[in-house]
Parts: sequence; structure tokens; C-alpha cells
Amino acid sequence: MTRFVVGLTGGIGSGKTAVSNRFLAKNITVADADIAARSVVAKGTETLEIIRNRLGDDIIDSTGELDRPKMRTLVFGKPDIRQWLESITHGPIMNLLRQTLADASSPYALLVLSAGTGRTPLINRMLVVDAPLELQKQRVAARDHSAPETIDAIIAAQPTRAARLALADDIIDNSGLPTALDKQVETLHQQYLRFADYD
Ligand code: ADP
Repeated sequence: MTRFVVGLTGGIGSGKTAVSNRFLAKNITVADADIAARSVVAKGTETLEIIRNRLGDDIIDSTGELDRPKMRTLVFGKPDIRQWLESITHGPIMNLLRQTLADASSPYALLVLSAGTGRTPLINRMLVVDAPLELQKQRVAARDHSAPETIDAIIAAQPTRAARLALADDIIDNSGLPTALDKQVETLHQQYLRFADYD
């Protein structure tokens, strides 16, 4: 069981996945809040059944999975439904993340939080991946082929770069080449191994 947990956050396209993959390659357990959020409403889950009961059969697609585009349309402009969804998924998401961290055998573990999430009691130290806004937008555009307005809207809904950096104990600068991440991750890895030992 790992007791030392590093929270990893950053805006969309800042490089959270690029960074977490490098920790994974060092055999560090990675718990990802976005992946957990998807898996608690996967086909056949109790939570998906609760959603279907309230929102109707239409919310399930032909393969039995949650129809996400339909869900987004339905939730848009309806804060009460959004709040209800958050209230029923929060517990299962946290349980799953806690379980993943409890099962981790690595000396410390990484908890990847989507940009909107602040510090949780599970976290001992906060790591923020940082890139200039323009670079962040360019990388998201290249990755997702999204329209600039869509990317702007997502970024506008996330905490600002300054707000994220204010929460950081450690910062990874991802304004350079991907290879520049290797060295920074290695330095932090050594530091976290020491912290995990002393915690
Ligand atoms: P996030 O998980 O924070 O949304 P990603 O790690 O997916 O961000 O990075 C966004 C995109 O930018 C991906 O396509 C990734 O391969 C690319 N990318 C990440 N870091 C760099 C970099 N230093 N140079 C060039 N491309 C990068």
C-alpha cells in the first residue's frame, strides 16, 4: 500500500498524459480521475442504472453504454441535473480512486486530476504541468481536431493558469520538446522516492 500520493494537474493539453505516461514507465501506479469517472458509469454499472431510471432509456446507446453526446446536450444549461449527476458519481469515483491507490505497490502513486479539480485529502503533494496558453491550444487542436471556439470554451471553464500554479508544490515546464519532460520527471521521481521514504 502506497501512502504518499502526488496529485497531478494541468489544463487541457498541458501534457498531463505525456507526464503520467513517464511515471508509469517507472512503474509508478497512476490513478486517473477522468478514467475513474468513465468507469463508474460503464455499461452494466449500478450508477448507469440510476441515471437511466431518472433520465430515460434514450440516454443509453445501442451498445448499452452511456450516450455521452446526448448526455452533454441534456445537461447543457441545466445545473440541477449536472449537480445531481455529480452527487451520484462522486462517491463511486472517490472509492475507485482510493482502491487503486490502496492497491498500489509502488513507493508512491500519482493521482491525475482533471483541471477543474482542486486538492483532495488523498494528496500529499501537488504537481502542476504548465505550458503557455497558445501552445496548449495548438496541442489540443492537433490532438483532438477541435474547433478553436470549442477549445477556448473548455479552457474558459477551467481554472486559470495562475490559479493552478498557485496550488503547485512542484511544476513541470512543458513549453519545450517532449524529451525535456524526461529529465524533469526523473528529478521529481527521485525526490518523491525520498519523500515516500520519510513520510
Ligand atoms: P493533457 O493530458 O494534459 O490533456 P496531453 O499529454 O494529451 O495533455 O498533451 C496534449 C497533446 O500535446 C498530445 O497530443 C501530446 O502528444 C502533445 N504534447 C505534449 N507535450 C508535448 C511537447 N512537449 N511537445 C509537443 N507535443 C506535446
